[in-house]
Amino acid sequence: MGKEEILQQLVSMSNRLGEEWRELVILGEGNTSARICDQTFFVKASGTNLRTITAEGFVEVKFEPVLEMLESRELSDGEIKERLAAAKVNRNYKLAPSVETVFHAYLLSIPGVNFVGHTHPVSVNGILCSKNWREALQGRLFPDEIVCCGIAPVFVPYTDPGVALARKIREVVQEYISRIGERPKAILMQNHGLIALGTTPKEVESVTMMWNKTAKILARTYHFGGPSYLTPEQVNRLATRPDEEQRKRLIEGLPLTLEEN
Ligand SMILES: [Zn+2]
Repeated sequence: MGKEEILQQLVSMSNRLGEEWRELVILGEGNTSARICDQTFFVKASGTNLRTITAEGFVEVKFEPVLEMLESRELSDGEIKERLAAAKVNRNYKLAPSVETVFHAYLLSIPGVNFVGHTHPVSVNGILCSKNWREALQGRLFPDEIVCCGIAPVFVPYTDPGVALARKIREVVQEYISRIGERPKAILMQNHGLIALGTTPKEVESVTMMWNKTAKILARTYHFGGPSYLTPEQVNRLATRPDEEQRKRLIEGLPLTLEEN
């Protein structure tokens, strides 16, 4: 896929995630990104709005100087701003990359992740801003949740947005990959929101909307005695069934493979 096509797909994914009826973001909330190649990626600029953003609202940024920030000593807010400005491919471009550019750079460097969508859904934050969020989110509830969003999300305790949050995300994602053996599809951040990872923009949208639905269902279970989770055996079975593979392809927006006889 060429750079222009990637940018076009990123714009339309962002506009859809910003649609008011979805209740995922308002005003300047949330940010999105897409990998262009090994060297650079597009990320939403500060002060733009997902619902109305156009191609001009995205900044092309170099991976290397942004990923270096994960390794450096503690940086002041001013230094972070300066380093992000210096990481732009066109340093004269009028807009500045989002303060969350660092976690986007890390997530887009995971094999298989080409698009990232970060939102603050009303439904999901209703749980992540609650006292018992960890307990409520300990289990999986229904088959499509697992097919679409994976065996489990990654959980991130509340962390100051910016470089500190990106470091914490890297730590918990690396732990997840070594424990589960595959990359996560969703990251849930306490008192903050959701990050959906996708090979395609369609996958980011599917994971976001399925977490939106899961959160609404979870909240309703408390009207009827609390959640009844699937067993770990049922979850594992759903994550590996061959017919579920076809549904996973649908979620990612990929063509179905023919059944072998
Ligand atoms: Zn956020």
